[in-house]
Amino acid sequence: MQDQSQKQATRQPSDVKPQPAVVVEEQTREGGVIVERADRVAGNAGTKMGDDERIRKTVDMLTVTSPGHRETVTDTVDLPGGGMATIKPAGSNEERIITNLALQENGTAGDEWLAACVLNLRGKSPVKADDVVAMLYGDRIYLAVRIVYLTYGDEIEFDVACPRCGEENALGISLTETVFKTLKPYPAEREFDVTLPSGRVARYGFRTGLHSRMKRDSDDRSLLDEMMMRLKALDGVSASAKSWDQLDGRDRAALRSELIRNQGGGVDTLVTNTCKGCRRKFTTLLEENLNFFLPGLRRS
Ligand SMILES: [Zn+2]
Repeated sequence: MQDQSQKQATRQPSDVKPQPAVVVEEQTREGGVIVERADRVAGNAGTKMGDDERIRKTVDMLTVTSPGHRETVTDTVDLPGGGMATIKPAGSNEERIITNLALQENGTAGDEWLAACVLNLRGKSPVKADDVVAMLYGDRIYLAVRIVYLTYGDEIEFDVACPRCGEENALGISLTETVFKTLKPYPAEREFDVTLPSGRVARYGFRTGLHSRMKRDSDDRSLLDEMMMRLKALDGVSASAKSWDQLDGRDRAALRSELIRNQGGGVDTLVTNTCKGCRRKFTTLLEENLNFFLPGLRRS
């Protein structure tokens, strides 16, 4: 069992009221985490279902987190973009989702996995894939890493193939010592105006999962796509796919610099590693590695 002392204590989401008739007022504290008993969570599931159905549904939802205990740990997380989300550990069902070949092929496996692990998003429950797609990019990545932390603990080991020589490298990181230390909130504003060298005024926002989806569905993808999609208006006129064409080179360069400077909040998930095969350094983003979501998986 990992040291979970740094985990936040489980909180009740504001819109979930315990049902006094079925709630067992028992909470145990294990390693600093308040563990809710299954029957207590079952009581929160709603009033329309019968007790048996309620408990069966809850048991489906639960992950056995320690041998011999049918308990679940949920975590309520403050999002860098504001508001809270309640997450549960990824279960075997979620592992099937993220490895589902059809979902992998159409690029939706990550969104479906995230939606399945989020029980409540800023008061909304249940949470659908479209809800997590609409989230700020930094909120999405932070939540995904928090789910990995809740599921597998702080020390995550996974294999990454070197982009140069293909050698499989085993990476081991402590999420609290690396990723979570870089957490920073988004500013309160969501749109910004910047005056470009020509005098034109560009309005832009932050990257969201919608941008990733649009990029995925595009036939003509570019490394600049997600950055370009952040442009919302030019001189007060709503931006279109052609807006960047209206800017000269100096304006485009200035706008790119501004977009890179002001990327919003979240966590830094870039990991640097020296390849044991070719001895050269490479970097990788945690979220771009399927193995990060399935630590311990070894490709033979
Ligand atoms: Zn290498």
